[in-house]
Amino acid sequence: MDLNFSAEDIAFRDEVRAFIKDSYPAALNGKIDEGEELSKDDFLSWHRVLAAKGWIAPAWPKQYGGTGWTSVQRYIWSEETARADAIRLMPFGLSMVGPVIYTFGTPEQKARFLPRILSGDDWWCQGYSEPGAGSDLANLRTKAERFTGDDGKEYYRVNGQKTWTTLAQHADWGFFLVRTNSEVKAQEGISFLLIDMKTPGITVRPIITLGGEHEVNEVWLEDVIVPVENRVYEENKGWTCAKFLLAHERTGIAGVAASKRGVERIKSIARTELDEGEILLKNPFFKRKVAELEVDLSALEYTELRTLAGESSGKGPGPESSLLKIKGTEIQQRITELALEAAGHYGAPYYRGFGEGDNEHPIGPDYSHRVAPTYFNMRKTSIYGGSNEIQRNIIAKMVLGL
Ligand SMILES: Cc1cc2nc3c(=O)[nH]c(=O)nc-3n(C[C@H](O)[C@H](O)[C@H](O)COP(=O)(O)OP(=O)(O)OC[C@H]3O[C@@H](n4cnc5c(N)ncnc54)[C@H](O)[C@@H]3O)c2cc1C
Repeated sequence: MDLNFSAEDIAFRDEVRAFIKDSYPAALNGKIDEGEELSKDDFLSWHRVLAAKGWIAPAWPKQYGGTGWTSVQRYIWSEETARADAIRLMPFGLSMVGPVIYTFGTPEQKARFLPRILSGDDWWCQGYSEPGAGSDLANLRTKAERFTGDDGKEYYRVNGQKTWTTLAQHADWGFFLVRTNSEVKAQEGISFLLIDMKTPGITVRPIITLGGEHEVNEVWLEDVIVPVENRVYEENKGWTCAKFLLAHERTGIAGVAASKRGVERIKSIARTELDEGEILLKNPFFKRKVAELEVDLSALEYTELRTLAGESSGKGPGPESSLLKIKGTEIQQRITELALEAAGHYGAPYYRGFGEGDNEHPIGPDYSHRVAPTYFNMRKTSIYGGSNEIQRNIIAKMVLGL
């Protein structure tokens, strides 16, 4: 494995760096470092800059609007965006349903949906999980019954409940796994539907997380009418799309570049003089924890680079994506734990300012305000994208042969 970037790669890196410096929306500066909750407009402002440049979908084939970058260039791109503290783009359109549509969709579906994903005109959400169907996704019960409408066209009537649907409150469209046949083996009776979130019968209810954020929702579907032309791939073959999509979901989940940034942030907090004049980064116990984190992060980075080298030589991601997911998310969580430790008593959850009407002004230095909500928020990483226990099962089966 050659870890040295070529002269072309370095020129590309400089081009990317300069572009981000000149074009990243100023209003977003520092929002990630501060762990701020991002609005739909925040996400879309960066999305639209990249769409205009033609850099919005590096992983897509060029014919559908991809950049045609090599995997090393894609790696450089993710490094540089994390280095610049740029916000992460929403994955639901770009990394999930987009690839499903260009791989399995009809020409009409491609023409209708792909350009609007690239431009940011449509915001997508993912309707997979249900109460009782998370890790065991094939157990899903949301039912779609087919019928012929008065206009002679074919439709599905959809009834059921989805849960943990991320940012569905903003969504224009959702991709849903629904049961179209209950008589066969669970995986064989599922279809993949694209549903307009404004269709009558859809209710989105917020779930407020421990960090106080509105990030996830319940989505209820009551007699929701969906044209059959909105089904991707064959009826009852949605599991094929679902599995394909999950593999894409885990790509980049290691978050190495963002974690590097996180470690730098901890160090900068820990270099700050505490109330008693102590510098935490000089404390040998704390210093050791930071060093251990950096060692593990380096090891993860090399594993990711090995996977990339394999990809460049045509080898698809195998069980290493599970390893990257487990180690990457554990490191992300450790970073938030150390940040909380570094912030000390200023990191107390829900600690607000005193005085009437002063709830919006937390006490303590700026760096401490979002440390606790971020700590809580990042507990999700070992659950979503296939929980870490499930990833261990995959490794046990595919690597250890158990
Ligand atoms: C913040 C967040 C956002 C999410 N966003 C979305 C979204 O947008 N769309 C969507 O469809 N879903 C979303 N999810 C749902 C996510 O995919 C599920 O939470 C996940 O698949 C786990 O399912 P579950 O919550 O039902 O837990 P369960 O499957 O009930 O698992 C409970 C526990 O048991 C363990 N477990 C289960 N089965 C096994 C096994 N066979 N072996 C060992 N351990 C096992 C799990 O690891 C877990 O610790 C989101 C979840 C979170 C936390």
